[in-house]
Parts: sequence; structure tokens; C-alpha cells
Amino acid sequence: MINLVTGGAGFIGSYLIDDLIHKNEKVICLDNFSTGRIENIKRWVKNPNFKLINHDIINPIELDINKIWHLACPASPYHYQTDPINTSKINFLGTYNMLELAKINNAKILIASSSEIYGDPELHPQAETYNGSAKTFSDRACYVEGKRIAETLSFDFNKIHKTDIRIARIFNAYGPRMLPNDGRVISNFICQALMGKDITVYGKGYQTRCFCFIDDLIKGLNKLMFSQYSKPVNLGSQKELSIIDLAKLIKRKVNNKINIIYKDLPNDDPMRRKPDLSLAKNILNWESYTSIEDGLEKTINYFNEILKKDDKN
Ligand code: NAD
Ligand code: UDP
Repeated sequence: MINLVTGGAGFIGSYLIDDLIHKNEKVICLDNFSTGRIENIKRWVKNPNFKLINHDIINPIELDINKIWHLACPASPYHYQTDPINTSKINFLGTYNMLELAKINNAKILIASSSEIYGDPELHPQAETYNGSAKTFSDRACYVEGKRIAETLSFDFNKIHKTDIRIARIFNAYGPRMLPNDGRVISNFICQALMGKDITVYGKGYQTRCFCFIDDLIKGLNKLMFSQYSKPVNLGSQKELSIIDLAKLIKRKVNNKINIIYKDLPNDDPMRRKPDLSLAKNILNWESYTSIEDGLEKTINYFNEILKKDDKN
């Protein structure tokens, strides 16, 4: 069984590769290292079951594979808004190229979609049947609309070519291996606190997210890939936390002496996000188990180590 993992040098992709290699599967990692890091996959480069290809998925590629885990796309708002036209291209052309590859190989393909497709939701929590409230004119639209067209392309490949698709709508995953300069809230807050800097809350911090620890997400992605269900499925945590409460929690855990400061809320920042996980529970028998306290502990330890290493260099 040959697995292609696009975005395999990134945060989520690298954990999927660990899991597949531990199961003795063959893995091809396809990545252009735009937000991924060689450190995330370095331990596998000499493994006979592992192959690394440096490639931009915007361009087509020919490979013999059996399964595709399609994750290549920057996930942090800072990264995906830096070159928004490229973000749209990654989601349209990149997903199109991977669906073509799946079609030619008669391979199953799992697409990493996002809670972002719900936009700034009017329905709470968000079930897969909710169509979302998103804008085409917005700083986030390259990613939101990108993920939406990726889902639509998958739907049409399934309809027209009978391509075997799986769609994971992922809600805010976190854990070790996120980039310290990623711009996402958990990595920002932890690194700020560890470096004795002010914690930067955007807006008043009343906006909410549900943070899912990486180990739980990997189990969910596996269960989805091996299920028979080809419509979108939410994967995330049910514990809703306001950003100000997250800031206070990290302050308490890392360094109680630092300050929390307030900065402008980015345009179109969604106010509330929480997955309705009924479908994941029913069809996958999956939910996330790791408490935010335990997940943060592991993530704080990781950033502590890498910031110490950076200090030495
Ligand atoms: P990440 O930025 O850590 O990883 C993305 C990987 O894709 C990186 O290794 C990057 O180098 C690679 N990549 C980007 N553009 C590429 C291209 N054109 N060609 C080849 N490789 C390319 O992000 P992540 O958090 O691991 O997210 C992985 C996937 O999951 C993304 O599709 C993201 O949209 C989706 N997702 C993530 C979250 C989350 O909370 N992390 C939430 C919802 C959806
Ligand atoms: N956020 C914040 N301070 C930061 C980074 C992010 O207050 O330093 C906020 C951001 O405005 C958003 C929430 O935290 O409301 C989650 O941001 P993230 O970029 O992690 O994920 P997303 O907005 O894509 O869900």
C-alpha cells in the first residue's frame, strides 16, 4: 500500500507520516517546504518505506499510489494571507491535480477541509448540514473559498469519475511541531509567555474556538479514511474556549508575571466556532479525549525545548 501525503512536512502531515510508517506502510511525502520543515520528517529520510519529493502541487505530477492524504496548504491566517492568490491556486489547482492523480490510480483520497468553510457562523454549534456564512470579498476568503471549491471539486470527481473521496472538516488543531512564528493563537501565546513578552489578544478576546489536540485528530483522520462515508465530517474538540480565557490559562501555566495586552481584531475574524460532532461520533465512533490542560502541557514543553535550542544557536 503506497500512501501519498501532500503537505507531509507540515504540522498535521508529519504526524500522519509517523503513524503510517509505524504501521509499516509505504509513504511518499510531497511538500514544497513553504510552511513545512525538514525537522518534522528527518527521522524517516533513510527509512526504505519513505520517499520525499520536493514539489509544488500547483503543478501536476505522475506517481503510482494507492491512497492520498491531501493536506498541502498553509493553515495559519498569517501564512495563507501573505500570498492569497497562491492560496486560491493551491486549493483549486492543487486539489484538482491530486483528484486527477487519485482518478488515474483508482486511489482513495482524503481532503483536509476546514471549519473555515462555515465562515462567521450564524448557527451554533456547526453541523455539516449548515451551509455557512462566508464572504467572497474578505482577507480570509482565499482560504475559505479555496476550501469550499476543494470540497466541490471532490464532490464532482466522486459524481463523474466515481473517485473514492473522504472530506475532513478540521477545527483548530494544535500540538508540538507547530511553527513558533506561525501566527496562530496557541503557538503565539505560548511562545510569548515563554519569552516573557506580553500576550497579544486580538479584539476583546470574547471570540471562541475549540482546540483539538493533534493525537486525537490523527485518530479521527484514520477512522474517516477507513470509513465508508464520502460526505464531509467535522473533526474537532467540543470544549469551547474564549481567547481571553485561553490567554489567562497559558499565562497561569507558563508565567504569571507577564501582561495580557489587546490589539485590533483582524477583519472578518469569526466570533464563535464549535463543531457539532454527532456525525463523527455516530459513523466513526470518534471524539477528542485530550483535555486542553494536558494538550497545552505537552505543547508548552515542546516550545520550551525548541526555544532553548534557538537560544544556544
Ligand atoms: P502546515 O502549514 O503546518 O502544513 C502545510 C504543509 O503543506 C506544509 O508542509 C507546506 O510546506 C505544504 N505546502 C503548502 N503549499 C504547498 C504546495 N503548493 N505544494 C506542496 N506543499 C505545500 O498546516 P497544517 O496545520 O499541518 O494543516 C494541514 C492541512 O490541514 C491544511 O490543508 C489545512 O488547511 C488543514 N487544516 C488545518 C487546521 C489546523 O488547525 N491545523 C484546521 C483546518 C484545516
Ligand atoms: N488570536 C489572538 N492573538 C494572537 C493570534 C490569534 O487573539 O496572537 C485570535 C484570532 O484573532 C482568532 C483566534 O485567536 O480570533 C484564533 O486564531 P488562529 O489564527 O489560531 O485560528 P483561526 O482564526 O483560523 O481559527
